[in-house]
Amino acid sequence: MLHLLRRVLDLPDATPVLDLTRGPLRDVGAWWIGRYDEDRRGGYTQALFGGARTLHVGIDLGAPAGTPVYAPVAGVIEHAGINPADGDYGGVLVTRHVREGGTCWLLWGHLAHEGALRWRPGDTFGAGTVLARLGRPHENGGWPPHLHLQAAVDRPVTHDLPGVVAPLERAAALRAHPDPVRWLEAWLSAS
Ligand SMILES: [Zn+2]
Repeated sequence: MLHLLRRVLDLPDATPVLDLTRGPLRDVGAWWIGRYDEDRRGGYTQALFGGARTLHVGIDLGAPAGTPVYAPVAGVIEHAGINPADGDYGGVLVTRHVREGGTCWLLWGHLAHEGALRWRPGDTFGAGTVLARLGRPHENGGWPPHLHLQAAVDRPVTHDLPGVVAPLERAAALRAHPDPVRWLEAWLSAS
């Protein structure tokens, strides 16, 4: 999996995959991976989550603030913006990708504002482009620096998607937001 994720963010060898089912995200090292389809009870205490949304439907790549985030394949900017609430994404991009199976989208959350706001909807980029850099806590929703990467089969209407959902919504949410690593695997083996 690491070789696929490195097309997005240059993670070191032996980057740990964390178990985040046991409480808030804190005291993590600089580099880490957070799992897709993980129920993080106790992990989302901010008002934004309403005490009910705990199932994480993207992947997280932890790295120092300022670390560049790369486009694994070519695409188009669908949305770019700032979601400033406590616990939210801070700087965020939504990108559009036309692949064999049709059009699909990726949401990139917790970015530095400066990089995210460099883009306008309709801007195009090639594989390997630096899309943005990881935001610091004051601009990323208050989290340890990391990328939240989430897949979407339907077009997001704005620069937002629920990155965690209520466990009761799991089946529908996993259909709407497949494992982004599976997409990287398909895309990068085809290219
Ligand atoms: Zn996340």
